[in-house]
Amino acid sequence: MHQAPRGTADILPEQQRYWSFVYGTVAEAARAFGYARIDTPIFEDTALFARTVGEETDIVQKEMYSFEDRGGQEITLRPEGTAAVCRSYLEHGLHNQPLPVRLYYLCPMFRYDRPQAGRFRQFHQFGIEAIGDSDATVDLEVLQLAMESMERLGLGGMTLVLNSIGDAADRPRYVEALREHFTPHAAHMGKDDRRRLDTNPLRLLDSKELAGESFMASAPRSVDYLGDEARDHWQELLGYLDALGIPYRLDHTLVRGLDYYTRTVFEVHPSREGAQSAVCAGGRYDGLIEQLGGRPTPGIGFAAGIERLIMNLREQGTEPPDTASAPLVMAYRGERAKAEAVRLGATLRAASGAAVVVAPPRSLKAQLRYASALGARGVFILGDAELENGTVTYRDMATSEQREVPVAQAAEAAAR
Ligand code: ATP
Ligand code: MG
Repeated sequence: MHQAPRGTADILPEQQRYWSFVYGTVAEAARAFGYARIDTPIFEDTALFARTVGEETDIVQKEMYSFEDRGGQEITLRPEGTAAVCRSYLEHGLHNQPLPVRLYYLCPMFRYDRPQAGRFRQFHQFGIEAIGDSDATVDLEVLQLAMESMERLGLGGMTLVLNSIGDAADRPRYVEALREHFTPHAAHMGKDDRRRLDTNPLRLLDSKELAGESFMASAPRSVDYLGDEARDHWQELLGYLDALGIPYRLDHTLVRGLDYYTRTVFEVHPSREGAQSAVCAGGRYDGLIEQLGGRPTPGIGFAAGIERLIMNLREQGTEPPDTASAPLVMAYRGERAKAEAVRLGATLRAASGAAVVVAPPRSLKAQLRYASALGARGVFILGDAELENGTVTYRDMATSEQREVPVAQAAEAAAR
C-alpha cells in the first residue's frame, strides 16, 4: 500500500472547512489593506533562492527540494515566497505602478524539514509583500495586517515579537561584535555553528542548537549598532505602535533565518511556546530587489503558516463556520423510476445548486442513510406510485416530515 510522502498531508473533506475559512479570512484581511493576489510558479531556478535566501541559511543548506530537470535546468520547489514575488515584480515591470505595490499570496511551500506537529515538508503560506516604499508607516501597516489577520480568524493570545537588525552598512560592525562575543564559546558549538561563526555569525542567533545557552542572552544587540537612518526608522515605528496601543515584545536575538532581511524583523507567537510556535514571520528586505538586478527598491513582508494557524484554531476550540451547502438527494425505487429520477435530479441541481442522484441498486433505507451521511437537507423519492400520479415524495431531513408534491413543483417544495 502506498502512503503520502513523509512530511506531506492529505486535506480530507472534513478538514476543508478549516482551510476555506482561513484562506477566505486572510485574503479578505489582505484586500482590506489594499493588497492584490499574485501567484507564482511552484518551482523556480535554483539560483534565485540560493542567491537571495543566503548560502549559509538552513533553507539553502539543507531544506531545498532541488533537482535537475530533463532539460538540464537546476530547479527548486519554492521554499518561500518573497524571492519569487520579487523576481516577478522585476520581470513584469510592476515598479511602473504606483508604489508601494501591495501583493499577497496563498500557496504551498516545500522544505526538507524534520516532520513533527506544525512542521511539514509540503506546507502552505499566506504571505504579503509591500514593495517600493521604505517609510515606517509601511512597516506599521504590515504589522497591523499580520495582527488583524489573526484577529479576524478569532485567534487570541498572539504576541508580536520585534527587532531591528539595521541596514547592510550597519552590518559589518555588528557582525564583528558577534564574532568577538561568540568566539570564546566555539568549543560548545557543533560543526555547522562553528562554520557560521566564521562565515555568517548573525546566523548563530537563530541556531536551534544554541537556543537557551547563556551566552546567547548576553550577545550584542543589533539595536545598539543601528546607523542614524535605521535608528530613526526604528524609533518612528515603535512610536506608531505605542501611539496606536498595539502590544509588542522586543527580542534582541530575533534575526530571522533568511539573509536578505534589513531593519524591521518580526514574528507572531501564540502564548503556548514551543519549537514550532511562530505562526507568522517577516521583515524588511531593502536590498533584495537590487540584488536581483533591479534598481534599489525597499520592500517588506511576512508569511504565515496555514497549518500552524489551523493548529492554533483547533487548540483554541474555534469552529469555523460550515459553509458547504447541504445538497438535495434524489432517491428512487425500481427500474421504471430511474430515467425520471435522473431527469428530475438535473432539474433540482439547476434550481437549487446541489443535487445528488443515488446510484442503484439500494434499498430505500440505504438511500436515506446515504443522504444523511451527505448532510442532505431533503430527499426526493420516486417510486411506481409517484410515477402513476405525476408526483414525487419530498422528505425534509431535519423534521423527517414527508409529503407528496407534483413533479413540476419539486424545486419549490425543497426551497420552503
Ligand atoms: P521555523 O523557525 O519554525 O523553522 P522559519 O523561520 O523557517 O520557521 P519562515 O521561513 O519564516 O519560517 O516561514 C514563515 C512561517 O511559515 C513560519 O512562521 C511558519 O508558520 C511557517 N512554516 C515554516 N516552515 C514550516 C514547515 N516546515 N511546516 C509548516 N509551517 C512552516
Ligand atoms: Mg525553518
